Amino acid sequence: MKHLVYYLDRPGGVFTPRELPLADPGPGEIRIRVRRTSVCQSDCVIYRSGLPRIKSWPAVILHEVSATVDAVGQAVTAFSPGDLVGIGCDIPCGDLNCIYCGINGTGDWTSCPHTQATGHEFPGFARTHAILPSWFVELGPIVKFSPDVSPDQACHLEPLACCLEGMTRVNHCIENRVVVLIGAGSQSTYALQCAQSMGARKIIMVNRGAERLKRVLTDFNDGRVTGIAWDEHVEERIFAECHPFNEPHFVMINVPAEPGYRLATRLMGYGTVVDAHAGIKGATGKPRVAHEVDLNNDIHYRLQCYQATHGSGMRSIRLAHGLLNGQNLPRLDRMTNSSERFSHTNIAAALARAGDSNSLKVIINWDD
Ligand SMILES: [Zn+2]
Ligand SMILES: [Zn+2]
Repeated sequence: MKHLVYYLDRPGGVFTPRELPLADPGPGEIRIRVRRTSVCQSDCVIYRSGLPRIKSWPAVILHEVSATVDAVGQAVTAFSPGDLVGIGCDIPCGDLNCIYCGINGTGDWTSCPHTQATGHEFPGFARTHAILPSWFVELGPIVKFSPDVSPDQACHLEPLACCLEGMTRVNHCIENRVVVLIGAGSQSTYALQCAQSMGARKIIMVNRGAERLKRVLTDFNDGRVTGIAWDEHVEERIFAECHPFNEPHFVMINVPAEPGYRLATRLMGYGTVVDAHAGIKGATGKPRVAHEVDLNNDIHYRLQCYQATHGSGMRSIRLAHGLLNGQNLPRLDRMTNSSERFSHTNIAAALARAGDSNSLKVIINWDD
């Protein structure tokens, strides 16, 4: 049997398909047939300029994937041929005794010194098929979906899990609360839908670009969402929208830029949780952003919480799986319109489209 693997020769380079032989899965392994890959902003960065975590080129990138189980090895009981599965990006290191990733580990894979991720240290899913090793099948972020879930929906698993990691690190910070989302890209659009599903009182979305904000408000507003254009009056307008509260309860930074961090710190009020979700990408690396916190007045008396999350572990993969399997995000398919669908023969065009300021979620189809 043969399969197709797309190699990106170098950052800024080209994708070249190669037809390679494909083995049967060994004991404990499964073989999957890739159905969809969705494009993350990190894929756009890798495609343009690489990533220090990717040490060898050519590389197989793309990490947001849904797939159908094609064959299972001896002793595999959790999966059967025909199962639709979704797969997370951050994966265990493979050492079954690891205190983070092993059988009795904490599950904090990204804390492991040997942490790895698909599309980074571990090959990504720009390929028609893959064999997942036994430790991946046993411990890794792979979940199967009910037949009502489409391959398009299943490929949202990983980015949705990353979003939920930020929204659920502190208990009860969303339900019946006022949520501010800084940015109107895909992570903010997932957060908006999760906040709706989790029972937020009001969701305020702030964005610099009018076009994408308008698209999100048109397609995802259920009456609880307010959009605010980011101008010189942004702070006072956010505070006014928080009424009858003075400040928001949850602020999520989904723009990879210092002004997003600066704005978030100015919104901190009584009981506010901030999730520094997007990292800051500067031309010269990541700049330091200093903000003074008074442990007595801000943290003890005003109960503020400063947190950051990146990536996803098994806990948030299960949460995302639950939302998708339960059809709890009814507008999810609106994140991808006809201009955001591509065939695997056109990966470079898909990545270019994902970089547009009005795009939400690009999906690459591997069925044909
Ligand atoms: Zn991603
Ligand atoms: Zn480990």
